Amino acid sequence: MHIDETATYYTATKKYHLNFPQIEQDFDVDVVIIGGGFSGIHTALELAEQGVTDTVVLEARYLGFGGSGRNGGQVMAGIGHDLDAIKKDVGEEGVKTIIELSELGPKIMRERIERYQIDADFHSGYAYLGFNQRQAKTLREWEKLFKSLGSGDEIRYVEGDGLKDIIGSDTYHAGLLHMGGGHVHSLNLLLGEAKALSEIYGVKIFEHSPVVEVTYGKKIRVRTAKGTVTAKKLVWACDSFLNKLESELHPTTINTYAFQLMTEPLSDELINRISPIRGAYSDIRPVIDYYRVTKENRLLFGAATPLLDYIPKDLKEWNRKRMLNIFPYLDQVKIDLAWGGPMASTRNLFPQIGTLRDKDNAFFVQGYCGFGVTPSQIICKILAEGILGGSERYRLISSIPRQTIYGKDNFRSLLCTLGKALHQTSGYWKGRR
Ligand SMILES: Cc1cc2nc3c(=O)[nH]c(=O)nc-3n(C[C@H](O)[C@H](O)[C@H](O)COP(=O)(O)OP(=O)(O)OC[C@H]3O[C@@H](n4cnc5c(N)ncnc54)[C@H](O)[C@@H]3O)c2cc1C
Repeated sequence: MHIDETATYYTATKKYHLNFPQIEQDFDVDVVIIGGGFSGIHTALELAEQGVTDTVVLEARYLGFGGSGRNGGQVMAGIGHDLDAIKKDVGEEGVKTIIELSELGPKIMRERIERYQIDADFHSGYAYLGFNQRQAKTLREWEKLFKSLGSGDEIRYVEGDGLKDIIGSDTYHAGLLHMGGGHVHSLNLLLGEAKALSEIYGVKIFEHSPVVEVTYGKKIRVRTAKGTVTAKKLVWACDSFLNKLESELHPTTINTYAFQLMTEPLSDELINRISPIRGAYSDIRPVIDYYRVTKENRLLFGAATPLLDYIPKDLKEWNRKRMLNIFPYLDQVKIDLAWGGPMASTRNLFPQIGTLRDKDNAFFVQGYCGFGVTPSQIICKILAEGILGGSERYRLISSIPRQTIYGKDNFRSLLCTLGKALHQTSGYWKGRR
């Protein structure tokens, strides 16, 4: 396996062939960003839209090498997995603000796609699915919550025969249709944003330029093999690929893994049977199955291991079994590709932004816990507000303490298994099992 395997649905169907150069000279700029995934690119774009364009983005491999080019492309509502876990830090009012912010994600994404004419196959239509009465109750609560945010998008709870108009599976008891969510071609979105950054705003992007050393100070010095960038401000945006390079950030996340498969192209008839809305889906268990159809009539199906932390040997077969539990009539369908990747996860299952201790010009963003496609749009907007001098919502989110994950270097698998067990158990009481 395959976990470093970079052949994905996204690389196979990418529409932008940008090929940014390796850095080979020194620069002195306002902002340097380490990491060319959603976090790095959204932050650079947000800054550029606010007038800060003297920025260098350094990517170790190529844009989208990390989670941003390997994910399910699910555009879901919310930020983080469990707002109860941060209530003690931000209070009821803080949680309310964060719920309101959640609505921003798909909106920013759609606006950028429109503004920069990005060819990213955004498709509206997301359904959250429940297997039993307990989950149905949770979905009804979510319906009220989503509606109270007043987005104007269609939001509809369905059960029984109503489900047939949304999904072609008898496995589920209830669903919540949310037309504000949907799915997107993540890599084309990322590359489309990078194209805008480079061509419209003149931001300098370098690929194949791993940062090997950072020296902090009034000006920060970032060294690569062939060039050094000196900057007034730095942003760490390496997520699960940080690889111990920043010792303060390293202990606050742990890598878990998710895996994806892609079927062969299916007939229109079969796709309409699977997904009358041609949409994206997930159940609402603590560790979800998630899937969606693509423009080319393929089904992308993904999941993480629900309890034990391990990397399956045969990724195609592992996810195929899960897919057949939901769509038994796909048993003759060929699986064309499977891949996986790490996701930086935090103890409170909420992403982290802020500055390093006693270094108010060294910012960071990380730890989406496998839920970053839409949240990164919001989180990076707020991070950019912090970089530009601060805002109430930047103070709110950056105030959430980063909890250390003790023992992560020696006991990663064990800790992930224990974390999943705890998450699954508490999920029962929270109406998600
Ligand atoms: C298999 C899988 C499925 C997923 N599915 C979904 C989904 O459907 N919906 C959803 O919301 N989220 C999903 N996620 C999570 C989501 O993709 C991530 O949260 C998000 O992409 C993280 O973006 P990022 O920019 O922070 O990190 P990444 O995209 O991982 O980018 C970090 C980048 O930093 C670079 N880097 C690291 N070290 C250095 C260095 N020293 N110098 C220069 N560059 C460096 C890396 O090469 C990498 O490109 C999934 C993740 C995976 C792995």
